[in-house]
Amino acid sequence: MSALPHPELGASWRAARPRPAAVHLDSAACSRQSVKVLDAVAHHARHEAEVGGYQAEESAAPLLQQGRSVLAGLVGLAAADVAFCESASSAVRILFSSWQLPAGSRVAVLPGEYHGNLAAIRYAGLQPQVLAADDLGRVDLEALARSLRADPPAAVHLTVVASHRAVVQPLVEVSRICRATGVPLVVDVAQALGQVDCDVPADAVYGTSRKWLAGPRGVGFLVLRPSFRARLTPVQGDPAEATSFETHDAHVAGRVGLTLAIGEHLAAGPVAVRQRLAGIGRATRERLEGVAGWRVVEPVDEPTPATTLAAPDGVDVTETHTRLRVEHGIVTTLCLPSRAPGELAAPVLRVSPHLDVTEAELDQLASVL
Ligand SMILES: *Cc1c(COP(=O)(O)O)cnc(C)c1O
Repeated sequence: MSALPHPELGASWRAARPRPAAVHLDSAACSRQSVKVLDAVAHHARHEAEVGGYQAEESAAPLLQQGRSVLAGLVGLAAADVAFCESASSAVRILFSSWQLPAGSRVAVLPGEYHGNLAAIRYAGLQPQVLAADDLGRVDLEALARSLRADPPAAVHLTVVASHRAVVQPLVEVSRICRATGVPLVVDVAQALGQVDCDVPADAVYGTSRKWLAGPRGVGFLVLRPSFRARLTPVQGDPAEATSFETHDAHVAGRVGLTLAIGEHLAAGPVAVRQRLAGIGRATRERLEGVAGWRVVEPVDEPTPATTLAAPDGVDVTETHTRLRVEHGIVTTLCLPSRAPGELAAPVLRVSPHLDVTEAELDQLASVL
C-alpha cells in the first residue's frame, strides 16, 4: 500500500481546524471548517452588531469582490458572473425557473442524476432526457455527440461528480461536444469543486460552499456566462447583472467565510490538494475492498477521495452507518436510493475523508466494518 501523497497538506489542514470529536469521514456531506473561516464568520456577525448589517457588508465589499473573483476563477468565468445563493439546490432552482424554456423542453441528464436536480428540472415544466452511460454511470461520449446532433435537447445538465458515487464525468469532452453542437451546458459542481478541475467552458456552473471547499453551510453559488445570462429572466432586475439572481438579504458572514475557505484552498495549491485527495481515495478503496464482504463501487484509481461501499447480502447499511457512529465514533454517510433514483437500487455507505485523514483512521474503519 502506497503512502498518502503530500503529508504536509494533511498535517496543516488538521492543525488549522478544531480538534474533531469523531473520525470525520463525511466531507462529501459537509467538511470541517478551519478556525480562520469560523473566526471570520463570527467576526463579520459581530461587526454587524457593532456598526450595522449594511455598514458591515459595505466594509466587507472588497473582500466579497475578491471572493467572487477567486470563485469564478475556479470555474473559468469572471467575478461579475457570480451570483451567491443559499445552496446548490437553490442555485439550480433559480437557474431553471429564470430560464423560462417552453414547457416540455428536454434537458439531458445522466441516469445517476441527483434527485434535487431532477425535481428542479421537472418543477420548471421541463423533461429530463436520460443519456446513455456505461455500467459505472459515466457518460457515453459518442452517443452524446450523436444525440446532440440528431435531436438536440434544450440543454445538457451534467453533474461532474455524483453524490452517491465518486466517479468523475469527462467534463472537458462534454463541454467540447456541447460547444460544437451549440447546446447550452449547465454543470453541477457541488461535489466536484475542490477535488476535480472545473475550469472548463460551460454556460452555467453551480455548487455549494460546505463540501470539498470546506466553507460555511448555507452558502452556494450560480456562475453564469454573460451571453447565456442574457437569455434568463430574473424575478427582478437586469439579467446583465449576475447579482440580479441573488436574494436581497443573505448570510453575508457565510460569503465572507467562503471567500476565506477558497483562499485556503488556493494557498494549499489545488493541484497538490487534488493529488492528495486522489491518493486518499485509492488508499481507502485498497483497504476496504472485500472487507467483510463489502464491495467498493468506484475503480480503485478513480481520482476522487470518496468511496462508496455496497453491502454484502444480509447486512443492513442503515444499521452499519449508525453502529459506526455510535459505537466507534466514525461519521460516514448513508445514501438511500432516493438520492439518485435512476441509478441507485439499494442503500450504500459513503466514506469521504478530507485531506487530514490518517492511515490509522482508515485501518480503524476497515477493522470495525
Ligand atoms: C449536495 C449536492 C447537491 C445539493 O447541494 P445543496 O447545497 O445541499 O443544495 C447537488 N448536487 C450534488 C452532486 C450534491 O452532492
